[in-house]
Amino acid sequence: MSAAEQIEEEGLTAEEEIQIFDTIDKWLERDVRPVVKKFDHADEYPHEIVEQMKEMGLFGAIIEQRYGGLGMSASTYAKVVIRITEVWMALTGIFNSHLIMATLVQRFGTEEQKQHFLPRFATGELRGGLGLTEPNAGTDLQGIRTRADKDGDNYIINGGKTWITNGIEGTCYALLTKTDTKVTPAHKGMSFFIVEKGDGFSVSRRLEKLGYKSIDSAELVFEDFKVPAANLVGGVEGQGFYQAAGGLEIGRINVAARGVGLASAALKDATRYSQERETFGKPICKHQAIQLKLGDMATKVEAARLLVENAAQAYDRGERCDMEAGMAKYFASETAVEVSLECMRIHGGYGYSKEFDVERYYRDAPLMTIGEGTNEMLRIIIAKQLIDRNPV
Ligand SMILES: Cc1cc2nc3c(=O)[nH]c(=O)nc-3n(C[C@H](O)[C@H](O)[C@H](O)COP(=O)(O)OP(=O)(O)OC[C@H]3O[C@@H](n4cnc5c(N)ncnc54)[C@H](O)[C@@H]3O)c2cc1C
Repeated sequence: MSAAEQIEEEGLTAEEEIQIFDTIDKWLERDVRPVVKKFDHADEYPHEIVEQMKEMGLFGAIIEQRYGGLGMSASTYAKVVIRITEVWMALTGIFNSHLIMATLVQRFGTEEQKQHFLPRFATGELRGGLGLTEPNAGTDLQGIRTRADKDGDNYIINGGKTWITNGIEGTCYALLTKTDTKVTPAHKGMSFFIVEKGDGFSVSRRLEKLGYKSIDSAELVFEDFKVPAANLVGGVEGQGFYQAAGGLEIGRINVAARGVGLASAALKDATRYSQERETFGKPICKHQAIQLKLGDMATKVEAARLLVENAAQAYDRGERCDMEAGMAKYFASETAVEVSLECMRIHGGYGYSKEFDVERYYRDAPLMTIGEGTNEMLRIIIAKQLIDRNPV
């Protein structure tokens, strides 16, 4: 059943969707906007805000209702991400990688795994993320070295991961491992496990970052870490690489939506400031040089928004959408980088000050060109799909 059919069968009504947007908007203005600068500048984890996110059901946003989630379509989810990012991008990372983990179970897990994990993911009782990247392998995932060796009813995991979002504050992860290190091509030996922290699992380091503050990024180490064989996603070895590709589609739609949200916030700030700031006897928005910038910025934000909608709708129809999600993520993240810089330039010296939000947009934006597949790789994926879909 496609996601669209699922939503039709058990998902949100239009009124429920409006109610959710309304609740989120009120929460953002009341509880989040006033404290963003404080948390971001202190690089402090926003525990209370995360509790509020749990109460609103955001950790189960795209988990089906029969497993306790809100059952949002990707289209609705993308709109939620845009709204939250317009206020604070880092918050969306707290539930996005968690929801990629949930998507892996929802799409590829056995019925027992769905019943065991999804309700606890949906409430946020179990929270965490996605463990793909290793010190020696990010884009080239076939190069990972973390291995899982079968031992009776368990697997023993040894290795390490880096850059894992929610690595410190979370407790549960979808971990990509090698269950066969000899097979060629190497991706046939890769498998996902859902793992909960325990003996043999440790956090070796919290990583310091340019932006995307407050949310934890960590290095993880596994030493003879025992995981029940029942936690092998889908119950069959060798499916991990394909499952990662499937999970990353929703991840890329999320990152694309973040790009739109951040660029949109920068555009709004620039539009307002350009009407307030005067030089040479008139507001700077009356100077053609500033109008050209605003014209470019507004057009790119709108184009990025439409690409995100297009990708999310394809996902909801149950179609293969790596090309659409890739285009949306590539264009929206580059737009976020460009628009946040232009916003800074429109603010002149004030844009470089820590008193304005624009410095945070400028620090947060580049991450979106890297995470969930670098834009270099995405352009290659887009081109490959273009050729595949248009054979001569
Ligand atoms: C803040 C943050 C949070 C993150 N969160 C997570 C997380 O939760 N879970 C997780 O698993 N990972 C996470 N990552 C890791 C992220 O997904 C990787 O950094 C990303 O996939 C790139 O991998 P890499 O850093 O190893 O770069 P590399 O793969 O070493 O790439 C280096 C450069 O080479 C380019 N390149 C590589 N191969 C090719 C090619 N074939 N053709 C053209 N260009 C190429 C890349 O585009 C890039 O420009 C996070 C990273 C950051 C910074």
